Amino acid sequence: MKERTEVHPYNFETGVYRPPSEGGSDSLLIRFTRNCPWNRCTFCGMYKAEAFQLRSVEEIQGDIDAIARLYRDLKGVSPDQDSGTSVSRAAAAELLRRYPTLQHHPGFSMVFAWLVSGGKTAFLQDANSLIMKTEALATALQHLRRTFPCIRRVTSYVRAKTLAQKSDEKLQIIRRAGLDRLHVGLESGDDEVLGRVRKGVTGEQHVRAGQKAMRAGFELSEYWMPGLGGRKRSLQHAENTAEVLNRINPHYIRSRPLHPWPGTPLAEQVRSGELSLLTPTETLLEIRKMVKALDVTSRVCFDHAGNYWKNHLGGHLFSLSYEGYAFPEQKEEVLALIDEGLRRR
Ligand code: SF4
Repeated sequence: MKERTEVHPYNFETGVYRPPSEGGSDSLLIRFTRNCPWNRCTFCGMYKAEAFQLRSVEEIQGDIDAIARLYRDLKGVSPDQDSGTSVSRAAAAELLRRYPTLQHHPGFSMVFAWLVSGGKTAFLQDANSLIMKTEALATALQHLRRTFPCIRRVTSYVRAKTLAQKSDEKLQIIRRAGLDRLHVGLESGDDEVLGRVRKGVTGEQHVRAGQKAMRAGFELSEYWMPGLGGRKRSLQHAENTAEVLNRINPHYIRSRPLHPWPGTPLAEQVRSGELSLLTPTETLLEIRKMVKALDVTSRVCFDHAGNYWKNHLGGHLFSLSYEGYAFPEQKEEVLALIDEGLRRR
């Protein structure tokens, strides 16, 4: 007779994407919304197959409660009783034996890795959590913070347009409810480049959004995309991106060089000759112009494999550290690294 398999009681959703730095810290991934409400950027293929959906506060809280059950069963204690970070491998093995379908639950290994790494950080999925109504977002955040007092940092992606549309007061409510860091896709500070890639935001709106986030007390990560203007608009892309970043002066500036993903409108523009990609040397020269024009007290990071240039020893030219280089102190060091990379080409 076939043995009956017990159904596991840990039903919660996990999305696919999160920033590399959140992977590095094994963040708990909690899905507050599904996919991207904008979904029109020509270089992006992340959520193209799926429609955006809001989730109700009840659904999100249900997921948090299910994760708390798994947490408790993995550790044998309740989250609020325990500030330690140990997780019992024997308890995990026992859960897998009891509920074999857990092997196919993407959230099981994610929660396990989060606990093993200390259970310190959480990331709200998917592409723009601040599109939620402020009260709903604050309620869900407070539930997360109450359920897991061990969490020290909660972060989220947000579109600059959404940030620019939220009042200072609403941003402060969200900040106080427990959201610490925002990841914003700046891509470029140049209006022509932003328009061509259908980012749906201008350089001025980026500045306003970034300044509001800083004023509300968030830690701010801005991602820029070297090469996005192609050959024709390389200089204006570098100069106007630096200008926007100088006016925001975010905590982090992160380089994500352009890679034309197959199937995206941008890849089609490259194929048809409408957009000419920069060579690796040209991209490095563009990065040099952008970095040289930076006048910030940010940390400048090359924490992605797309920053592939090599040094004279054959290793990575730039550190892949999520904390990057402290500006202005290390600006000359970064420029010297770029010059080394250029000499090798
Ligand atoms: S806003 Fe972000 S996730 Fe949405 S389409 Fe643009 S790059 Fe992709």
